[in-house]
Amino acid sequence: MLQTRVIPPAEGAYQYPLLIKRLLMSGSRYEKTREIVYRDQLRYSYPTLIERVARLANVLTAAGVKAGDTVAVMDWDSHRYLECMFAIPMIGAVIHTINVRLSPEQILYTMNHAEDRFVLVNSEFVGLYQAIAGHLTTVEQTLLLTDLPEKTADLPNLMGEYEQLLAAASPEYAFEDFDENSVATTFYTTGTTGNPKGVYFTHRQLVLHTMGVSTIMGSIDSVRLLGTSDVYMPITPMFHVHAWGLPYVATMLGLKQVYPGRYDPEYLVELWRKEKVSFSHCVPTILQMLLNAKAAQGTDFGGWKIVIGGSALTRALYEAAKAKGIQLTAAYGMSETGPLVSCAHLNDELMAGTEDERTTYRIKAGVPGPLVEAAIVDADGNFLPADGESQGELVLRAPWLTEGYFKEPQKGSELWAGGWLHTGDVATLDSMGVIDIRDRIKDVIKTGGEWISSLDLEDLISRHAAVREVAVVGIADPQWGERPFALLVLREGYVLGAKELKEHLKPFVEQGHLSKWAIPSQIALVTEIPKTSVGKLDKKRIRVDITEWQANNSTFLSTL
Ligand code: AMP
Repeated sequence: MLQTRVIPPAEGAYQYPLLIKRLLMSGSRYEKTREIVYRDQLRYSYPTLIERVARLANVLTAAGVKAGDTVAVMDWDSHRYLECMFAIPMIGAVIHTINVRLSPEQILYTMNHAEDRFVLVNSEFVGLYQAIAGHLTTVEQTLLLTDLPEKTADLPNLMGEYEQLLAAASPEYAFEDFDENSVATTFYTTGTTGNPKGVYFTHRQLVLHTMGVSTIMGSIDSVRLLGTSDVYMPITPMFHVHAWGLPYVATMLGLKQVYPGRYDPEYLVELWRKEKVSFSHCVPTILQMLLNAKAAQGTDFGGWKIVIGGSALTRALYEAAKAKGIQLTAAYGMSETGPLVSCAHLNDELMAGTEDERTTYRIKAGVPGPLVEAAIVDADGNFLPADGESQGELVLRAPWLTEGYFKEPQKGSELWAGGWLHTGDVATLDSMGVIDIRDRIKDVIKTGGEWISSLDLEDLISRHAAVREVAVVGIADPQWGERPFALLVLREGYVLGAKELKEHLKPFVEQGHLSKWAIPSQIALVTEIPKTSVGKLDKKRIRVDITEWQANNSTFLSTL
């Protein structure tokens, strides 16, 4: 250990813990009158937010919630969710943001595993809650969240309705200091196998993540995305990695915030227009849905900056959004990483390039943010060169990565093998530090000794004018090990067969962008591609579906 100089603090010096409460208190300093908006139901200013957080803290404390307890929330994106994201951790408890899109069995599993003691339930989920209530092992009380005039519901051990309880509570609460390493949030991530795994983040991690995100999005010129005058609306659910941490950032900076409830593309466009939203974030499929909305046709979305992450951003989607006035910026992260790791960045050299070259870099996963270390390793954990060519598993270090999986020490140490967080993604790193995600390790297609990136194929196929959506997976092949299989949703009025698709891909093979083995030998045209609970392509389900189709191959619409 180095013999550094460590000076003990002066007597009485304040030892400042990095706690979430600090983020809440700063927002209203900038613009006191900025609003938090919930659909067309409610709007209030920052001093009211602070007051409502205190009221909620009083309600929870009076109900018996103690530091260390887990309090779960089942809600769509709302001002109430935002209040919970502050009040619950600020009293030292842990907020479990339940993924309401999981199956009832999975929700039940996560609630018992997380040891939820109190649950806030939106009236829309009362039926779902009733169905699992008999099997919940740790829940003691429930609290109703509702927009309806009816302020009660048939929930077991109901302590009351949120608004009524808040109205009756004191607007003041003395939030104590405590250890910044206390867990503040938890939620579950579903892998390809096994039960969902619980990730968790401490106050210190969330504060540092908030500072990291605001630095990346607010200060780096080529992606200047976020400033105090922006109007923020999440389109990544608050149950999915705390809406990527942006509600904390928006609150710290005192932005106007717009919470849309359950996502309905037509309503999202209406809210965007009415509230003058300028900054959002979402996964590609949700953006695609938004662009397909009736209300989006003929609309110029000029001035809307959207961060795209969670899946690869294809060039076709980037161009389609740009044609509608939307500035897209790719970012990379995962549930385990808080989530932000990297964001597209164009240095001076790239800025001087052609429009086409600039687009190439705007859609890559980008440059790791401040405090983030990224490297690539081979299967034995050896570091590989950052030469833009060598492919390996992306591994990470940052002060805000989950330090394990809740009550799963074995899985936690696998995640952290060798002292680096293993992402399960294959990537290259180039000399400018740009991460290019090539594929998930599990999704790479191994055909005839070659490794083909399903993401590359999806990108190239999506450039065909007839293609609205595409997913590519590898399917078992007796001769080649695996062969690529493409699932396509076509634009209205278009037709496309495997032969035309082959013609479309041929030039990319000739130019060396694609191996000839990458051309799918089979495609299926479908009206919808299966999606996960957070709207990503559900490749696990697609593989199962394809096996079923193969057994009954009359549904194959096109085969080479
Ligand atoms: P999740 O934990 O469900 O949020 O999923 C995280 C995974 O999404 C990562 O491990 C990547 O496979 C994928 N992902 C996230 N961002 C990107 C991106 N910009 N490009 C490609 N894949 C991404």
